Amino acid sequence: MAQPLTPARTDYGMLSNRTRMRMVERLRQSGVKDERVLAALYEVPRHLFVDQALATRAYDDVSLPIGHGQTISQPLTVARMTELLFAGRQSGKILEIGTGCGYQTAVLLKMGAEVYSIERVAALLDTARQNLRAARLVQARLVHGDGHFGLPEAAPFDGIIMTAAAKALPDALVAQLAPGGRLIMPIGDTEQHLWLIENTSQGMHKTRLDPVKFVPLLPGRS
Ligand code: SAH
Repeated sequence: MAQPLTPARTDYGMLSNRTRMRMVERLRQSGVKDERVLAALYEVPRHLFVDQALATRAYDDVSLPIGHGQTISQPLTVARMTELLFAGRQSGKILEIGTGCGYQTAVLLKMGAEVYSIERVAALLDTARQNLRAARLVQARLVHGDGHFGLPEAAPFDGIIMTAAAKALPDALVAQLAPGGRLIMPIGDTEQHLWLIENTSQGMHKTRLDPVKFVPLLPGRS
């Protein structure tokens, strides 16, 4: 019997293991070194986080639409940001801003982190909750809110990761970093760069990294 071109989400398991292995090899070749990050990306079934019609493209190194004008970041971006966030450490308390479909959240959970994630679009947060449940990862605290303000009630955080681009560095986020904490986020408008902000004993240390392209951080909730 001929195989369907787009396997149903549930039939995709076996095929996706091999495809995911290839994705991890590509990430390694692209310079991702932290084996725990590579293991986390191998373990998370990315196809469960995208629309069924896009499942066969889930492991390509591309960003994909997730509805509401938003996108799931490409695997290399997720891997690179996760590597920068943890910097060799495994666990800790992490705040994610921009839950989207929940894929980055799943990777953070697989890294062993205690995860808080804020999303401004209620419908996306619902989808993320369903996707994470399907992937059997239910420990994240998902919050409907505006990530510009962080989550003071749960601060300080060992790491903060933002997956939408802010025009400037939000002061509230810097204030919620624990000593030794790291904030990784895209900053910019038409031209964006990834920034790493480290809370060191000598103060905040800011480093500009690669040029990137993220959807904008928007004000308020919807
Ligand atoms: N990490 C996500 C990427 C989603 S794209 C994933 O793996 O799918 C960025 C997300 O940031 C979108 O879902 C968007 O709605 C959300 N976002 C934009 N501005 C926000 C804000 N001020 N607070 C919280 N989330 C925001």
